[in-house]
Amino acid sequence: MQRVTVSPSPIYADYNASTPVDPRVLAVVRDWLTGPPANPGSVTHRYGQDAQAAVEWSRAEIAASLRAEPEEVVFTSGATESNNLALLGISSFGLRHERRHILASAIEHPSVLVPLEQLRRRGFEVEFVPVTGEGVVEVDQLLPRLRRDTLLVSVMHANNETGVLQPIREIGEALRKRGIFFHTDASQSFGKEPELLQDVTYDFLSLSGHKIYGPPGIGALLARRPESGRGPLEPLLWGGGQERGLRAGTLPTALIVGLGVAVQVARQDYLARRTAAQQVKQTLLAALQGIDHVVHGAPEQTQSHVLHVSFPGVDSAALIAALRDELAISTGSACSSARHQPSHVLEAMGVPPAQLTSAIRLSWGPGVTEIPTQGLLAAVQRFRSAKNPSPH
Ligand code: PMP
Repeated sequence: MQRVTVSPSPIYADYNASTPVDPRVLAVVRDWLTGPPANPGSVTHRYGQDAQAAVEWSRAEIAASLRAEPEEVVFTSGATESNNLALLGISSFGLRHERRHILASAIEHPSVLVPLEQLRRRGFEVEFVPVTGEGVVEVDQLLPRLRRDTLLVSVMHANNETGVLQPIREIGEALRKRGIFFHTDASQSFGKEPELLQDVTYDFLSLSGHKIYGPPGIGALLARRPESGRGPLEPLLWGGGQERGLRAGTLPTALIVGLGVAVQVARQDYLARRTAAQQVKQTLLAALQGIDHVVHGAPEQTQSHVLHVSFPGVDSAALIAALRDELAISTGSACSSARHQPSHVLEAMGVPPAQLTSAIRLSWGPGVTEIPTQGLLAAVQRFRSAKNPSPH
């Protein structure tokens, strides 16, 4: 099927939903897709051996970026699968050891929340840790909720809606002392905030290719390897025993190599990307000065490339539609935006109803040097004056 070209092309400012593929990534993906077939599990010939070497190169690249061991990287189809593998995959261990209590933050992505709902149906007790009005999970709220039968804690690193970074280092430290498993969904921070992911103690970390200028349809779960034994995880997919037996299925070499290149590029470029993103944010915030708005999330803990903002009195869906020729943006969560439900993240932050329905998320990256605000400001003013016409 051919792609519909959009004219005029709006500026894409929905990078948290998906990032454009970096040309360096695209070059290697194309190379692997157009070359001879490459099943890295079929190593009786040169082609399979080359594919296997390429997959192992990518695995080592990802591991090195997290100061982990290559064997700890399990390739998956993306962060949704990684989250499912960590949460559902640990459940048999919990049942065997009478540990059926799970803690998660109230602002997790649906790919964490929905598997947890499944676990609740299977007899687990799932408890949610509240967040502050600024969208931060507080360690002091989490620790008193830990119990002797707590199996796992799941707290994301960067929230996909607000961009707020969570204190996963402190959480990991506290959990290690207690022998409780820790899962962090780092899809929105991996490759962007590497300093904050170094030396964090976790058992499972989820990442995704299409959030870091890599190909969609590929991701990984970093699953720490115990000193001995096969580890606590059960696979979701059974079959040919690939990926330490944790994820059966032929590995997609082209996507895996593309992810490796995306990680390599991120390691080189993350600071420059962040500095550029910070400048875009400053200009954007300056432009918003003259108009009534509310920024969501603790500013000093929010990623440089994200702004989640409400224009009270203006319906976000109507605003996004009015701007569709100049700005491609969303309300926050791509997975629920089609359902027009208020954001569970903003609700957890205690955001008042009027702001809930007027929130938009802008997220950007390389290629966006400025967010056009003229149309945005004009549309906000238009909507407001239509609601409150001035007396003649
Ligand atoms: N977790 C978070 C925080 C996300 O933002 C996303 C993507 N919206 C996912 C998980 C799911 O990732 P994927 O699209 O790779 O399955």
